[in-house]
Amino acid sequence: MPTTADATDLQEELIRLRHDLHRQPEIGLQLPRTQEKVLQALDGLPLEITLGKDTTSVTAVLRGGHPGGESVGPRPAVLLRADMDGLPVQEKTGVDFTSQADGAMHACGHDLHTSMLVGAATLLADKKHLLGGDVVLMFQPGEEGFDGASYMIREGVLDATGTRVQAAYGMHVFSALEPHGTFCTKPGVMLSASDGLEVTVLGAGGHGSAPHSAKDPVTVAAEMVTALQVMVTRQFNMFDPVVLSVGVLHAGTKRNVIPESARIEATIRTFSDASRHKMMDAVPRLLKGIAAAHGVEVAVDYLQEYPLTITSEDETRTAERVITELFGERRLSRWATPLSGSEDFSRVLAEVPGTFVGLSAVAPGGDPATSPFNHSPYATFDDGVLADGAALYAELAMSRLGALAPAS
Ligand SMILES: [Zn+2]
Repeated sequence: MPTTADATDLQEELIRLRHDLHRQPEIGLQLPRTQEKVLQALDGLPLEITLGKDTTSVTAVLRGGHPGGESVGPRPAVLLRADMDGLPVQEKTGVDFTSQADGAMHACGHDLHTSMLVGAATLLADKKHLLGGDVVLMFQPGEEGFDGASYMIREGVLDATGTRVQAAYGMHVFSALEPHGTFCTKPGVMLSASDGLEVTVLGAGGHGSAPHSAKDPVTVAAEMVTALQVMVTRQFNMFDPVVLSVGVLHAGTKRNVIPESARIEATIRTFSDASRHKMMDAVPRLLKGIAAAHGVEVAVDYLQEYPLTITSEDETRTAERVITELFGERRLSRWATPLSGSEDFSRVLAEVPGTFVGLSAVAPGGDPATSPFNHSPYATFDDGVLADGAALYAELAMSRLGALAPAS
């Protein structure tokens, strides 16, 4: 029976699990209730399960069947990844399985990823005798800014079968962008790198009527904010885009008091390592130069967050072939440009070749151009994609392990 038909049989179960996860979102690296639900859902499947030490991750290994039933030394392995965490967002969708946790919501659709990967585990367990190797199922907490993938890599997820996985696949649903059910791929740079900037301008406080006897950090901070934008347009190639947005600008307590210090925080997105490294040099140089010109001090913290998400050309072509075989060319959108979001699946793709596939879960008939996007309190993700997502995860593993199986 084709995987898609088997997956359709699981649809009701996957919807139940997804709604259950959606009602009780958890944030960060510690997701005890979510972990419990995943373990319950995987119960009874022939999996070797390892729980995270420093986080509530779940690593499940499915051993492909051998004719003799025994494992015979290192065999090829592939990894499938789902993230499980929610966001600090107050849900306003009005769906009947709305979040019951105050101030927390599955606003990025990670509840769907978790449910789809559970579905894939069931599908693969049924076909394990056909697998030419082993599958690592990576259920990851803390994608939303907590770098959960790095914890799992340090704790050995890439070698969970006893050998390094040869390919890794992740998936992400969107509540807008593309028509319902469209799978999105892109070889090379698919998502931006994300970095943070924290700046403190240290002047000398004084009376607002006598700025010459003080060192005003406010005017210096104001100059820095505009100079950063000018730098982006003058020093960076417009065909290798850079985004720098100041989201925090704080100084002072009273209008006639020159404060001691001023604070700036910004997010920086880049789409190449060259631009990322150039930014790391250019930003502190600019800010220190402005501070020196005005005789004040500046402390610059450049915080490296997630690197570029770079997919392998070969693995992306594999995914495109599998998507086309399962769902038809019509359901595939090959992106010409990356998306300016960031992902810690980039950590996995920096270690092993693989790819990341987008899946539109916009409501059927919904307008992808105007539907609220991921992270919005109004973002809704359609359950109708769960079976197809599970089928794709499973087929990616089967197809890749088939291709990797040693000749016998
Ligand atoms: Zn996400």
